[in-house]
Amino acid sequence: MNFNIRHGNKKVGVTFGVEIAFDMIKIEHLGIAVKELGVSVPLFEQLLNTPCYKTEVVATEGVSTAFFQTGESKIELLEATNENSPIAKFIAKKGEGIHHIAFAVENIEAEMKRLSALGFELLNETPKNGADNKLVCFLHPKSTNGVLIELCQDRP
Ligand code: ZN
Repeated sequence: MNFNIRHGNKKVGVTFGVEIAFDMIKIEHLGIAVKELGVSVPLFEQLLNTPCYKTEVVATEGVSTAFFQTGESKIELLEATNENSPIAKFIAKKGEGIHHIAFAVENIEAEMKRLSALGFELLNETPKNGADNKLVCFLHPKSTNGVLIELCQDRP
């Protein structure tokens, strides 16, 4: 794999070896906090021109979720199921909007170890079950410039 990177008119011409590997494979989904799925699902169906393919309640997280496929990535809408839900608190503080960015990883435990060693604050010490058949781990936004980051791996 060869890359030619340009900075302005200056060609830097960096070449990477073929063994290049990314720990974060891709943006798996963007999580968007909404007040009401009943309002937002039809809105996103119109916006994306694709039907919601799955809804799922994650009781342990206090959320109802709805998923849309957009090319390789997904959109996850999140509605609070109770007033103590992190989504209810998020909306009370910031209003509706982008809540988290989820990266697909090959080996979530290895990634958690790598990031923890670098000083990132993990919100759960072991991978937990998330929506859409994933093992997930969240990173505290205070260690990531205010962005809630989710790591996710397909559940074996
Ligand atoms: Zn998510």
